[in-house]
Amino acid sequence: MIDKEEIKYFENLRKDFPILKQKINGKPLIYVDNAATTQKPKIVIDAITNYYTRYNANVHRGGHTLGIETTELFENSREKIAKFIGSNSEEIVFTSGTTDSINIIGQGIKNQLKKGDEIILSYQEHHANIIIWQEITKEIGCKIKYLELNEEYQIDIKSLEKTLNNNTKIISISHISNVLGSINDIEKIFKTVKQKNENIITILDAAQSIAHKKFNIKKQNYIDFLVFSGHKMYAPTGVGVLYGKYKLLNKLTPNKFGGGGMVTDVSKTDFDINSAPQKFETGTPNISGVIALGKAVEYLENIGIKRIEKYEHYLAEYFIKKISEQNFEEFQIIGSKNPKNRIPVFSFDCEHIHPHDLTTILDLDGIAIRGGQHCAIPLIKLLNTCATSRISLTFYNTTNEIDKIIKSLKTAKQKFELGEFL
Ligand code: PMP
Repeated sequence: MIDKEEIKYFENLRKDFPILKQKINGKPLIYVDNAATTQKPKIVIDAITNYYTRYNANVHRGGHTLGIETTELFENSREKIAKFIGSNSEEIVFTSGTTDSINIIGQGIKNQLKKGDEIILSYQEHHANIIIWQEITKEIGCKIKYLELNEEYQIDIKSLEKTLNNNTKIISISHISNVLGSINDIEKIFKTVKQKNENIITILDAAQSIAHKKFNIKKQNYIDFLVFSGHKMYAPTGVGVLYGKYKLLNKLTPNKFGGGGMVTDVSKTDFDINSAPQKFETGTPNISGVIALGKAVEYLENIGIKRIEKYEHYLAEYFIKKISEQNFEEFQIIGSKNPKNRIPVFSFDCEHIHPHDLTTILDLDGIAIRGGQHCAIPLIKLLNTCATSRISLTFYNTTNEIDKIIKSLKTAKQKFELGEFL
């Protein structure tokens, strides 16, 4: 249960997001494409402006005041992020996003793999966590195995038990599905894996969970690598994080070379490599992005992830209840109807209505949803569909917006029944 004061608190947070005051097609914007990217609060936007108006200099280089201040802000951000997930700051590598982070792990670990080794993924994975492994398996001759989903559309533990064997070297799975919103029991999955063999590398794609679930990596020591993107946690695009246990991070071979930070010495023929995290941070990083990511983390911590989780649970419950009341045959939620097993990210298989058409109709009402395959084609194929319409809510969404979405879905249904979009 959530009380009225708490609901008011979250509704008030909308003021922090300038874009939410926008009108789209003459209607107030209802932004429910948060699984694609979240909107940014003013303090994050201000951090970028502030950086360029007050601090702009390169990091880890100049000894002048601006260079020193910028480096301090940049490294401060690393510490904030480390504190946010309960790790040490030298275990935090700044990347351009989740895709980049998984690529760094994949390219960096492939020399530890050999023909016949097995990599476990699941049917829920985003392409960011599939294609790089396919490339590696082609190169090395190892094999990918996919974990099945259970009736609640979560990764099935029974399927894990059947898949794990002495050849398993890596398991890389998403915490929360970007298509279905289902939450996987990562503790059970990774602990089962580590019991089988503690050297199996566990990688968690937290792109969809970092802003919704509290992490404490020291306690969750069954996670070897954790990856996420800034833009899905109210920070800018083009910045992300690769967390790795320090020993394992240092075992990865970097696949980008150059710059000052990654080396400690360079001769005419060779170089001495720095340790993590600098050995992966070649060239000038996305300085303003990193600083703004630190601000986003500060913003989230001020609200509290547990508190966000509770409010989003309330939104999920409300959404499921309202959509079920409509008896919409056309708009069937694919996935769990139990808000405990999911976040409010809902995909629909809309019979007779193409997701792109539905996106266009809802857009006329100022509602931003996503129609498509969500970069998860193996899952879309498993679901036996061609694409889904996805409504992904977050803490700045309201029950009032859900009511408007339902009304708009009703209109869409009527328009299709009248053949207006045929
Ligand atoms: N994994 C998941 C589960 C995602 O939802 C996404 C983004 N949709 C990614 C990976 C890729 O993130 P990015 O595009 O920021 O690299």
